[in-house]
Amino acid sequence: PPLLRLDEVTVRYGRKDALDAVDLDVAEHETVCVLGPSGSGKSTMLRVVAGLQRAASGRVRLAGRDQSGVPTHRRGVGLMFQDHQLFPQRDVGGNVAFGLRMRGAGRAEADRRVAELLDLVGLPGAQRRPVDSLSGGEQQRVALARALAPRPRLLMLDEPLGQLDRGLRERLVMELRELFARLGTTVLAVTHDQGEAFALADRVVVMEDGRIAQSGTPLEVWQQP
Ligand code: ADP
Ligand code: ADP
Repeated sequence: PPLLRLDEVTVRYGRKDALDAVDLDVAEHETVCVLGPSGSGKSTMLRVVAGLQRAASGRVRLAGRDQSGVPTHRRGVGLMFQDHQLFPQRDVGGNVAFGLRMRGAGRAEADRRVAELLDLVGLPGAQRRPVDSLSGGEQQRVALARALAPRPRLLMLDEPLGQLDRGLRERLVMELRELFARLGTTVLAVTHDQGEAFALADRVVVMEDGRIAQSGTPLEVWQQP
C-alpha cells in the first residue's frame, strides 16, 4: 500500500467543509507538495493526518493501517510548522532532543542523535547555542532537525520556509530536496508558494475550497490550464 492514503476524508468546522471527501495517496520516498490559496484546506489536511483534527467521515491510513483513534505521538509523523515554535528557553540541543527524550531515549543516545542531526542540517556543534541567537534560516534548520529526530515515517511541513526572505528560501529549498532524497524521507508539505512547491515536489496537489483541483508532476501541473 502507499505510505499515506486519504480515502474520502471530510473535515468539518461547524457547517463548513474544510476538506470535502479528499482522496490522496503518498508513496514511500515521495515528496508531495500541497499548493493552494489561504483557506483552501491545506493545513487541515496535515492536521487530520497528524491526528490533531478529527475527520467527520472517511479514512486516514498509514502503511495500510486505519489511524482512527490513534493518537498523534503514535502515528510516526514528524511535524514542522510555519512559525516553527522552537522552545525559546531551551538551547539548540534541548530543542532537537525534545522528542527523543519524550520517547524515552537516554541522555547519551539523545546526545549522539542530536549531534548527527545538527551535522545533517548544516549546524554542526550548535548544541549549546541559545535559539534566540540564531538567524531565521538557522531556526528553520533547528526545527527541521527536531522534526526528523525520532525518524518519522512521514515528515509533514506547513509553510516550512514561510518566514524567510526569497534568496534564503531558494537556497534552503534545494538543500531540503537533496536532504530528503538522501534520507529517503517521505514528505507531505504545504505551501502557497508555487515556486517552492515546484522546486521541492515529485508531485504537486492543488487544493481549492477543500477539494483537490489538480494533481500531477510539477511539469504536468504547470502545463494544465
Ligand atoms: P489553509 O491551510 O489552506 O489556509 P485551512 O486548512 O487553515 O486552510 O482552513 C480551511 C478552512 O477551514 C478555512 O475556511 C478556515 O477558515 C477554516 N478553519 C480552519 N481551522 C478552523 C477552525 N479551527 N475552526 C473553524 N474553521 C476553521
Ligand atoms: P495559517 O493561515 O497560518 O494556516 P490560520 O490563520 O488559518 O493559520 O489558523 C490559525 C489557527 O486558527 C489554526 O489553529 C486554525 O485551525 C485556526 N483557525 C483558522 N481559521 C479559523 C476559523 N475560521 N475559526 C476558528 N479557528 C480558525
